[in-house]
This record gives sequence, C-alpha cells and structure tokens, in this order.
Amino acid sequence: MAQDINLRDGSRRYIYPLWVKGRFQSLRKVTFLVLNLFFFVMPWLRADGQQLVLADLPGRKLHIFGSIFGPQDTILVVLTLLFAAFLLFLVTSLYGRIWCGYACPHTVFLESFVHNVERWIEGNRGQRMALDRQPWDANKILKKGAKWAAFLAITTAVSMTFVSWFVDAPTLWTLNAGSGAYGMVGFLSFVGFLDMAWFREQFCNYLCPYARFQGVLAGPQSWTVGYDKGRGEPRKERGRKQAPDDLGDCIGCNKCVSVCPTGIDIRDGYQLECIGCAKCIDACEPIMGKYGKENLVRYSTVALDLGLETRRFPVRPVAYGTLLAVIATAFIVLVSQHTVLDVDIRRADGSLYTVDADGATRNTFLMSLQNRDSAPVELHVEVRGLEGAEVIVPPIHLESGATARVPVVVRMPAGAELGRTVPFEVVVSGSSEPLVRDATFKTGAQTGG
Ligand code: SF4
Ligand code: SF4
Repeated sequence: MAQDINLRDGSRRYIYPLWVKGRFQSLRKVTFLVLNLFFFVMPWLRADGQQLVLADLPGRKLHIFGSIFGPQDTILVVLTLLFAAFLLFLVTSLYGRIWCGYACPHTVFLESFVHNVERWIEGNRGQRMALDRQPWDANKILKKGAKWAAFLAITTAVSMTFVSWFVDAPTLWTLNAGSGAYGMVGFLSFVGFLDMAWFREQFCNYLCPYARFQGVLAGPQSWTVGYDKGRGEPRKERGRKQAPDDLGDCIGCNKCVSVCPTGIDIRDGYQLECIGCAKCIDACEPIMGKYGKENLVRYSTVALDLGLETRRFPVRPVAYGTLLAVIATAFIVLVSQHTVLDVDIRRADGSLYTVDADGATRNTFLMSLQNRDSAPVELHVEVRGLEGAEVIVPPIHLESGATARVPVVVRMPAGAELGRTVPFEVVVSGSSEPLVRDATFKTGAQTGG
C-alpha cells in the first residue's frame, strides 16, 4: 500500500526517495536522454522553412516531414491512436508497467528534473527530511526558494517546448505568437509547477487511468518487478530476536522501500502503485551481492514464482500482436495512397450540359483541391479520352496547405460525334505525380452512353 497518506488523519505524507545507482537506472537514464532530446529538439527541425512536425490545430493541419494531413485523414489519426493503445497493451502484457518506469512523460519529467534538482539543492533523503522538519530560517528559505525558482524555470521551458509542437517554434520563442499560445504556456507551467512541487507520485497513484486497468492487461506470464518471498522470508526485523536458522535472506535493511518513488514496499507483493522503475532492484542488488547471494528483488513472472507452466506464446501478447499487425498493415496501405495533392471533381449544379452559340457542347465541373505539400504548386489541367476537347480553367496557384474550388469547363466543338454520356479522364499535373480523376461528358445526343 502506498505510504503517501497518513492513516491517522488522512494528511499527505511526503515521500523522500533515496537516490540509487544501478544497471537499470543507467538504462533508464539513456531512455530519458533519448526521449528528452526527441521532445526538446524535434520542434526546431525544419525543411523548406516549415517545421518538420507541427500540429496546427486552428488550421486543422498536421505537418509531418513535409506532408500535410487534414480532417480527411482522420482515419490515419485513429489508426495511429489504436496502434499506440495496442502497443501499450502488448508491452504491458509482456513486461507490466515498464512504460511507466521507462517512458511515461510524467516519470521522465520527475526523474530527469524534479528529483535531480531537489537532490542538488536540498541534498539526499536524510538531508531533505531534516530540512522539512526544521523551522523556517534563512537557510531553509534560501534552499526552498532556489528549488521552486528552478522548478518554475524548468516547467516554463517544458511548457514552451510542448506548445512548440502546436505553434511555430521560432514565432513562439521570439514572443510573436498569439495570446492563446502564451495563455496555454502559463496554464501548463502552473499545473507543471504544482505537480513538481507538490502532487508528484499522487498522479500515478490516484489520477492515471492506465494504472487502473494495467492489472487487467498484465497476467501470470508478464515480467514484473517482484520480491523473492521464498528466499527472502522470514526477513530480519529490527529489535526482534530471531534465530539465524529461522531467517530468510532479507536482512531487513529497508533500502528497497527507501528508494521507492511511490512509497511502497515491494516485499508486500505486486501493487497497483508500482510504476516498475526497478529502483528497488538496484537497491537490493549490492546488498545481496555483499553476501554473495542473488538479488531478492528482480524481474520475474507470477507463473515462475508459483512454479506454474510458463508459456512460450502467452495468449494475450499473441492476440495484441496480431491486432497490431492488422492495424500497422492498414496504416501502411493508407499512407502509401496518401498524395501531396488532394483532388476531387464533380459536375457543377444545374443542367447536365449547355449548347453554346457556336454549337459547341459545354459541361461545367467543380474541382476541389488541397495542396498537402510543404511547397506552393502551380497546377495544370487537361483531359484524356475526349478528342478535340477545349478545357477552360483559370490559373491555379496553391500555397502550401491551401484549398481551392475551381470551375473546369470542357467544350466539345459542334459536329463532334459523341454519344449521350462519354467517359473521360481529368489529369491534374504540376505537383509530383499527375493525378487522374474519372468524369463523364454529357451531350444532347439521342443514342449512345
Ligand atoms: S516497488 Fe520498486 S519498481 Fe515499484 S515503484 Fe517502487 S521502487 Fe519502483
Ligand atoms: S533491499 Fe533487499 S535485503 Fe534490504 S530490505 Fe529490501 S529486499 Fe531485504
């Protein structure tokens, strides 16, 4: 059970996690570094003057590596979200809450900044506890003030970077963006500061919805952080006389509890609050190493611990993996069909055809266009399959991301031998590959088509 609530009066009990080194913490540092680099650097990467990744919400456009996706690509967004959800399900069914411990933005935020800054300014666990207990004097005011100022600077930088994914980064950072963007930065900075200074692990324990349903996703075959009860118990307890022969390997040092950022005791078994950070593994390893014994806290599965059958292909991961493959295939097929120019042509409202004064037959169409490229385009329209047709289209210049509706008039000279309905193709060129759309030419002929 989480130790962050005082059971006597329900007040908040602050957690002072002990800093710990170890191979899993080294691995986490590497993942945090990669994720932070991705988060902070990505909004500054540009090509042809356009941010490589930008979710332009007011313009309802998503810029990704030179391509523009709009509301008509909602299916791709849905597939991406489904892929992310099922990937999380798959990883959870294999490795429990490894996402929380290694990649969750909240954990990355706390571990990269909050815990380090706090340790640098206020010291390690014992010094922080002593500082909080002591009355407010100049030293405490200085340390707390420095810590909160650092938190505010960090949370502002993180919020500015987050908003840079939605608003052009140089415009935002040179203070030339709209007031809404800075309002969002202010709001996020405030919430981030509250989280850093006060809320912290309570977010994982009480607010995060993923924590609530991860118990359903993980199963007896999932690898999670656990305590080897069989070897560890009965543990040594302080102030209690125990015969050495009655004791298990756990020396009762409580290191695994002191390092836990959510304040739980892994020796009580798998708990909802465990974020899988593996700090307790790294804490116990050197202690057991001193006695030449294997670590008491390690990655294991319930099946292994209880001596149950271990399946090579557990049902849940196989089911999630299959669904992922289906979603990924659908996504790849749709993306391969995604063109930088979106063209739709339909007959204009009104009569099917008109006959001009010179006897030519005229059909009028409306063409809807969207330039989903990062560069402007000049477009050219012609028709195929209508010998001798005259095509009348105004010049088409489309800025990046712009949409337009353009009238397209097709005239067939008097005397052309045509049926009532003649299929033909409209070819739009000017961007990468020419795009071809089917259409039909209507005439007043009594037969044919
Ligand atoms: S029990 Fe261990 S793995 Fe779980 S949150 Fe605490 S320190 Fe991290
Ligand atoms: S760190 Fe290891 S030895 Fe120490 S209390 Fe935890 S399980 Fe026992």
